[in-house]
Amino acid sequence: MTPSFHVAVIGLGAMGSAAVSHLAARGARVIGIDAYFPAHALSSSHGDSRLIRLGYFEDPSYVPLLQRAYANWRALEARLREDVLTITGVLQIGRPDSKIVSGTQKSCALHNLPLEVLDPDQMRTRFPVFSLGKEDIALLDPQGGYLHPEAAVMGHLKLAAADGAALHFGEKVTAIEPGDGDVTITSSHGQYRAAKVIVATGSWISELVPSLRGHAVPIKQVVAWYQPLDGFMTMPQRMPVFIRDEGENGSFFGFPVIGADGVKVGRHAHFREPIDPNQPNPPVNEADTALLDSFIQRQLPLAAGLRVRSTTCRYTMLPSEDFLIDLLPGEERIVVASPCSGHGFKFTSVVGEILADLALDGGTPLPIDAFSFKAMDRFLAARAA
Ligand SMILES: Cc1cc2nc3c(=O)[nH]c(=O)nc-3n(C[C@H](O)[C@H](O)[C@H](O)COP(=O)(O)OP(=O)(O)OC[C@H]3O[C@@H](n4cnc5c(N)ncnc54)[C@H](O)[C@@H]3O)c2cc1C
Repeated sequence: MTPSFHVAVIGLGAMGSAAVSHLAARGARVIGIDAYFPAHALSSSHGDSRLIRLGYFEDPSYVPLLQRAYANWRALEARLREDVLTITGVLQIGRPDSKIVSGTQKSCALHNLPLEVLDPDQMRTRFPVFSLGKEDIALLDPQGGYLHPEAAVMGHLKLAAADGAALHFGEKVTAIEPGDGDVTITSSHGQYRAAKVIVATGSWISELVPSLRGHAVPIKQVVAWYQPLDGFMTMPQRMPVFIRDEGENGSFFGFPVIGADGVKVGRHAHFREPIDPNQPNPPVNEADTALLDSFIQRQLPLAAGLRVRSTTCRYTMLPSEDFLIDLLPGEERIVVASPCSGHGFKFTSVVGEILADLALDGGTPLPIDAFSFKAMDRFLAARAA
């Protein structure tokens, strides 16, 4: 007989691992299936560090979700007895009219969040590793920091297993077919039935949700590590996580020395080059490293010329560069969790809760109207007009 579950979660990266954890904690009979093994190199959920901040410049409407995400990260740590989230503050540097600076100030003002404005003298004293351009200002979000992606994914899976979830790795799902009652899931290893299915397959999402073809676009993202000669200046105590807006040059993000490889930097969305999720990640090329080396030369000269490693990872972008977390239109037994356009990791502790709400209750009290298929359609229509 085909095994039967309340919920099947397809894909156990950042989103899916959080979903199985929340579902199992609520007593649901849940199966999680991943084509590979957790936090693998082709997923979007590996690589030492992910930035988290509260005064969200993208839009103030994210802040309540982030407040819930922070609480859920701390609850995860308490259950695991392990660190997942480290607070260093997040320094955001740019011109006063840049989205990063003006958007952060707006979110913090609206939600009454602490935010420090640092002048060049204060920057020299407190964070000497950074220089401030004449027209730049620096904001410190004291509640920002970084997450350990591997610890988060493995931690969610560990708790899910402890709460009774069935977890299958190295098993690819090839079809999801809603029937008269349950949904049938076919994989490389067999068949299962579930009342609800959550699809959280990252850069492969349009294979199982064909309506996202052409809308959920995997792109090449490159990050590099530099080993500064003066390691003390770049320890988390002296160097917070940062985002630096360089106007037409784009915005760069970076982390202090966390592991053996040194300071890590990348440019948000890199060159926006689409990639095929079924091919190995394209190798890092000279243009990729030249972009990051020149940023280091300009903004973190003490690490200039000292690149030790670089790698390609995957962002999956939606048209609005936002999230999509919704029931599939016309098939409410299927819940879709997009990979979140390169800024979703920090939210996964709350996305897991939302996905569990959607699968078990058909809705959620958390504010996700902006992440619906309807919102995506409205964005596409406005863009076409
Ligand atoms: C370099 C980089 C830096 C980033 N920085 C930040 C940051 O600082 N802060 C932040 O908030 N976000 C950041 N992000 C974004 C964030 O990491 C992603 O939003 C998030 O990891 C996406 O997780 P996911 O679970 O959707 O996808 P994935 O982690 O890719 O997981 C999808 C899983 O689905 C599995 N799968 C696919 N197809 C199938 C199938 N048919 N059957 C079974 N399993 C399947 C895959 O094997 C994979 O394990 C960054 C992303 C990258 C790449």
